Amino acid sequence: MIAENIQRIKEKIADMAIKAGRSPDDIRLVAVSKRFPAAAISEAYAAGQIIFGENYIQEVQAKRDQTPPAVIFHFIGHLQSNKAKIAAATCDMIETVDSLKLGKALNSHLQALDKTMDVLIQVNIGDDTQKAGVKSSETEELLMQLNTLSNIRVCGLMTMPPLVENPELSRPFFRNLRLLAEKLMHKGLFPAIEKPELSMGMSSDFHIAIEEGATIVRVGTAIFGQR
Ligand SMILES: *Cc1c(COP(=O)(O)O)cnc(C)c1O
Repeated sequence: MIAENIQRIKEKIADMAIKAGRSPDDIRLVAVSKRFPAAAISEAYAAGQIIFGENYIQEVQAKRDQTPPAVIFHFIGHLQSNKAKIAAATCDMIETVDSLKLGKALNSHLQALDKTMDVLIQVNIGDDTQKAGVKSSETEELLMQLNTLSNIRVCGLMTMPPLVENPELSRPFFRNLRLLAEKLMHKGLFPAIEKPELSMGMSSDFHIAIEEGATIVRVGTAIFGQR
C-alpha cells in the first residue's frame, strides 16, 4: 500500500515536471510521516523513500532511534527556540526557520555539535494571521541576518498557503514564493547556492506547486493515508 502510493506519487511528480519543461530530478519528495508510527517510515524506506517530514520534535527524536540510520528527517512544524537543541541533534533540515532568535539558537547548538545544517525560511506568503512564518515583506531582512550565522546555510524558502478548497487557488501563493526567492537570489542573498529551494505543495496541490517551480514537495495523506 505505502509502496504503491510512493510509486504513484513519484510518477506524478515526474509527469508534472516533464509537462512543465523541468527535470524530475530537480524535485525532491518529502514523505510527511507525522503521527504515523516508525514502522510506516521503515516500510516507505524499504520502498526507496529517503526523506521524511515531521512536525513534532519529540516525534523525530523517538523515530530516529526506531528507523534506519540513513533516513533523512526534515522538520516542517513550528519550532520553538527551546527545542532547537534537540532539533540540531536529530534533524537533517529545518524547513521552518521564521525568526532570528530561532536561527541563533540553532546555530549555537550546531556549533557545539560541530555540525552545519541546511535550513529554509518559512514564509507566510498569504500574510494569513492563522499561519506561521515570516511576512513576505520581512523575509529579506531575516535572510540577511541568518546569512551571518556560521553553522546554518539558508537554501531557500518554504510555505503553507492559506487553506483553499480548489487547489488551483494555491497557484498565486506558490508563484509569489517563487518570485520572492528569485528576487532574493538576484540580490545575491543566497550566496552559497546555485538555485534556491522552494518547498511548497502537499497531497492536494503538489502538482500545481511543481508547475510553479517547487523543488521540494511535502506529501503525507496521499502516501500514508488519513491521520
Ligand atoms: C501535514 C503537513 C503536510 C502534508 O499534508 P498532506 O495534506 O497530508 O499531504 C505538508 N506540509 C506541512 C507543513 C504539514 O504540516
